[in-house]
Amino acid sequence: MFRDIVSNEEAKSFLQRELSYNRKSGTYLFYGEDRELQMRFALALAKGLNCENMENDFCGTCETCKRIDHLTHGDLDIIEDPNGVKIDQVRKMIYEASTTSYEGGKKVFIIKDIDKMKKEASNGLLKIIEEPKDGTFFIMLSNSLNLLGTIKSRSIILPINKQKPEDLNINEEEYKFFLGRAIEIEKYLEISNEKYLKEPLSYETIGENIKKYISTGEFKYKINVYKAIRDFVKNRKYIDKIDRMFFCDEILRGGGDRNFIKEIIAYSIELLKCPEKMEDFLILKGLQRYPINIKNLLITFFVKD
Ligand SMILES: [Zn+2]
Repeated sequence: MFRDIVSNEEAKSFLQRELSYNRKSGTYLFYGEDRELQMRFALALAKGLNCENMENDFCGTCETCKRIDHLTHGDLDIIEDPNGVKIDQVRKMIYEASTTSYEGGKKVFIIKDIDKMKKEASNGLLKIIEEPKDGTFFIMLSNSLNLLGTIKSRSIILPINKQKPEDLNINEEEYKFFLGRAIEIEKYLEISNEKYLKEPLSYETIGENIKKYISTGEFKYKINVYKAIRDFVKNRKYIDKIDRMFFCDEILRGGGDRNFIKEIIAYSIELLKCPEKMEDFLILKGLQRYPINIKNLLITFFVKD
């Protein structure tokens, strides 16, 4: 239910009001720094639109709500690509949006990271959101409002703010460790505690922890990956080049895919975000936009002084 989501009171009442209008179709744009939190709101809206027991709020327990939560509902489509949704995916979505509902409910398309889309795909998207068919809803997610003006002007825009440490019932340090990502913090609170977070873990263990995280999906190994990065970042000055190379090799040996490695770099960038590291930060922001050899990216970031 909406009321189970902590924080963002305004966004929640806004969506509940939206639902009370019983719109026939709609195009929404949610933006904010916390991607997973945006997704939680998008799914809440999808449930609100389709719940079998809807009364001011979705129930969260009916078959429809459950299937939306498990992403198995026939009328829910998630369109995503970590590097930005491609034109082919947009074309497929346009086709899907033109067909009738599988389950007799409202069709909901959640399009992730639209700020990463290239021009051609954005233009395709623009066409479809202009005049959504009755019973069709688009929920676009973005990290920023740095988007085509025409996309913004056709959307109902809603900021989704990052949760604060007090919302999540944790201290500043824990909050920073997870970069304020609400969903990760919830997973952390289920399995671990502050004491564990404080215990150091050598950066040398990064490879084995990536490997374990990839093969089991257990969140504790991701915490360890973060801890290893924290250790590296903290001691970077004292680690010589050979050992820094070793760190890069370990990351590669962990067997994560390109996107996971980018996530590791993004996490490191966030940890380094202090004035004297601004230069590194800017270089990387630039590099991440281009398709470059992942090993070069790691070396550029972790090995150079
Ligand atoms: Zn329900």
